[in-house]
Amino acid sequence: MPARGRRVVLAGRGRYRSPMPTGSAPSRPAALRPTRGVRTDTQVVDGETVTIRRSTRRRRTVSGRLEEGRVVVMVPDALSGADERRLVEQLARRIRSRDRRGPAGDAELEARATALADRYLGGRARPTAVRWSSRQQRRWGSCTPATGEIRISEAARNLPEDVLDYVLLHELVHLLVPDHGPEFWAELEVYPALERARGFLDGVAHAQERALTP
Ligand SMILES: [Zn+2]
Repeated sequence: MPARGRRVVLAGRGRYRSPMPTGSAPSRPAALRPTRGVRTDTQVVDGETVTIRRSTRRRRTVSGRLEEGRVVVMVPDALSGADERRLVEQLARRIRSRDRRGPAGDAELEARATALADRYLGGRARPTAVRWSSRQQRRWGSCTPATGEIRISEAARNLPEDVLDYVLLHELVHLLVPDHGPEFWAELEVYPALERARGFLDGVAHAQERALTP
C-alpha cells in the first residue's frame, strides 16, 4: 500500500496512465514513489468551490472540466502556490463562461423556449420560430406577435441561465400579451427568478449606460 498522508487522496480507478516501461521505472520501492499520487484541494473562485487535483505526473499542462456540474482543475504538483492560484482562477472562469454560453443553436434555443412555455405558461404560448440574432444589439429579445417569431440577441448567450430563461419567457408572454401592462406581469409572476433576473438586466444596462431591455 502506498503511504497515505493527510490530504493525500489516490486517484480513482481508470485515472492512472499506463505504467512506465521496464527500464525507465524509478528504482525506489513502490511505497515511496509519489508518481501515482494525486493530491486534492479546493479553491474558491467567484464564490464557487473549485476542486484542484495536483498530480506529480503532470509537468506543465493545466486542464479542467465540469464533473457533475462542478469545476475540477488538474495541475502539476510542482507549481508554486501563487502560480497555481492564478491558473486555477483563469481556467475555472473560462470553463464557467463556456458553460454559460447557453443553448448552442436555434434548435436548442427553440427547445428551451418550448420547455419554458410548457412549464410556466401551460403551453399556451407557441412561437412559430425562436432564433439567435446577431443583428439585435439594443434588445435582449424581441417578439413579433403577428408572425409568432421570437429573436434573442447573441449577447444573451453570456447571461446566467435563469436570466436567459427570463428573456425567453418575457418574449413568450408577448405572444399572449403584446404590451407591458398588468396582465403581462401577472403572467410572469409564476417565474421564481423574476426579480433576480430583472435586477440583473437592470444592472447590466446600467453598467453599459444604454438601455438593453427585453
Ligand atoms: Zn417586452
